[in-house]
Amino acid sequence: MFELVLASNNKHKALEIKKILKKAKVITLDELGFKGEIIENGETLKENSAIKARRIRKIVKDKIIIADDTGLEVEYLAKAPGIYSARFAGPKCNFMDNNLKLLSLLKGLKMTQRKAEFKTGIFIIFPDGTESYALGSVNGYISEVMKGTNGFGYDPVFFVPSKNKTYAQMTLREKNSVSHRKNAIEKAQIIIEKYLKTKSKK
Ligand code: IMP
Repeated sequence: MFELVLASNNKHKALEIKKILKKAKVITLDELGFKGEIIENGETLKENSAIKARRIRKIVKDKIIIADDTGLEVEYLAKAPGIYSARFAGPKCNFMDNNLKLLSLLKGLKMTQRKAEFKTGIFIIFPDGTESYALGSVNGYISEVMKGTNGFGYDPVFFVPSKNKTYAQMTLREKNSVSHRKNAIEKAQIIIEKYLKTKSKK
C-alpha cells in the first residue's frame, strides 16, 4: 500500500481512480484540506495536468502526487472540445449544457461522422521531485441522443462500440474495464510501481 495525492476534487474521478488503483491509498484535495483554486491555462492535457500536480507539490513533498486532465476530441469538430471540454457550452455551463451543445452540433450526421476519442493525461510527481506522464485513450462515437444515467460529464453521449453502450449505460465496473481513464491509470500504475521498486532497493 502506498499513499498518493490526487490533485482533484471531482468525486466521480476520485471514485473511478480509487477503484482502479487498488494498491494505493488515494487522498483527494478535500481530504487534504486544500481550498485553493488552480487555474488550468495550459494548451494541452499534459500542460494542464502538470499545472495541477506542480501546484500541489508546493504543499506536499512526501507523497506521490497525480493529476489528471481529460478531453473529448470529436473528429467532425476538428478535435473540439478537447482541452475545453469542461466549459464547452460557456463559462458557467453544466454537464447537460455541454451534452446538448455537442448533440446539436452533430445533429443529422451519420454514425461514421460521429467518431470521437476520449483522452486522459496523468501527470505524476514523486517525493524526490522526478516527474512522469501517462496518456490513455479510447475510441468511440457520439450517440444521436443521450443514453443512460450513470457516471458524469459526457458519459451519456460517449458510445463505446465494444460494449454497444454509452459510458452512462455502464456500471462503474464496466466503465472502468474499458475507459480512457483506466488506460491512463494503468500506465501510471506501472510507472509508479517501477519507481517504488527502485526506491526500495536503495
Ligand atoms: P477535466 O478537466 O479533466 O476535469 O475534464 C474536462 C471535462 O471532461 C469535464 O467537463 C468533465 O466532466 C469531462 N470528463 C472528464 N472525465 C470524464 C469521463 O470519464 N466521462 C465523461 N466526461 C468526463
